[in-house]
Amino acid sequence: MKYNRILLKLSGEALMGKRQYGIDPERLAEYAEEIKLLTDKGVEVAIVIGGGNIFRGVAGASNGMDRVQGDHMGMLATVINGLALQSALEDAGVKTRLQTAIKINEVAEPFIRRKALSHLRKGRVVIFGGGTGNPYFTTDSAAVLRAIEIEADVILKGTRVDGIYNADPEKDKSAIKFDQITFDDVIRQGLKVMDTTAFTLSQENKLPIIVFDMNKKGNLLKVVSGENIGTEVNL
Ligand code: UDP
Repeated sequence: MKYNRILLKLSGEALMGKRQYGIDPERLAEYAEEIKLLTDKGVEVAIVIGGGNIFRGVAGASNGMDRVQGDHMGMLATVINGLALQSALEDAGVKTRLQTAIKINEVAEPFIRRKALSHLRKGRVVIFGGGTGNPYFTTDSAAVLRAIEIEADVILKGTRVDGIYNADPEKDKSAIKFDQITFDDVIRQGLKVMDTTAFTLSQENKLPIIVFDMNKKGNLLKVVSGENIGTEVNL
């Protein structure tokens, strides 16, 4: 394996599968199997999960809701997704811990870095819920933050697209995919990988990001074993 410790970022929307809202149990089970392939090989796996399939603070604010209140709802949505993913992973025989940035002690452990590291070393998948615990941030920022804190080798952003293109491949058929690109070129060309806060945090800490298609069977393992099937953003 090329990477020993990874931080996998999954968006909430990825969990919807073909649905318009919420969680698709089949999709969850598929993801759990993909992740199990890694833990079976001794890779240490941490996951940050989004909440966009349930609630986004910005959407609430655009309907007149207080933004901070909405962001709190969004963060709780990520905890719901974290619980669902935990359940699917345990059903697949993977040992897990859910740690949240907002304390919900009856439901999950609070985020404690040293504990997270200890779980990882014991082969448990650690799911980080609740984002950063702060409004006005995103789970992309949480992913980069946690990845730096746990000294992950790489951030893997699992999406439904197979990498970064020079235009939106779902709209423009002539779009060209990058195999590798620098942080500077992503900024210069105005390409969307993660939100700017997350992206600069990753760049400043020299942490590579690989964007890949998480919905194709076997892809996650391929990426971790070093196959260049997505786009790697590096210095
Ligand atoms: N959120 C937040 N602080 C964080 C992470 C998330 O307030 O550190 C809220 C925010 O409202 C966001 C929602 O949680 O819209 C869901 O997270 P995100 O949009 O990042 O999920 P994804 O797009 O990955 O599904």
